Amino acid sequence: MLKKTQVVFNRYIRNRDEGLQCISCGSNAGNQAGHYFPVKGFSALRYDEWNVNLQCAGCNLFLHGNQAMYRIGLVNKIGEKAVKELEGIAIKNRVKKWSIEELKGIIKKYDI
Ligand SMILES: [Zn+2]
Repeated sequence: MLKKTQVVFNRYIRNRDEGLQCISCGSNAGNQAGHYFPVKGFSALRYDEWNVNLQCAGCNLFLHGNQAMYRIGLVNKIGEKAVKELEGIAIKNRVKKWSIEELKGIIKKYDI
């Protein structure tokens, strides 16, 4: 269920960001939904709209998110204040056990 929800959510992100360059390197076309705070260790943010943005495979897979550059790209996209807010959430609540009901709600919201 977590994976299925991620598939639906990631598809929403790819559609939302269609045509944008990779959030991290800014030089390659993005084609993957990449997390700023990774799913592993930050499960509370796995379906957060600010935390997931279009990335190229090079940054997402081979550079493991290319996180330092991701932050720069994210500040350009949503502003320093929103990034700080996201980081605040990450500090306060990293791990979340998602209920089936919550996951169903996310699928319903993003499966468009
Ligand atoms: Zn990239």
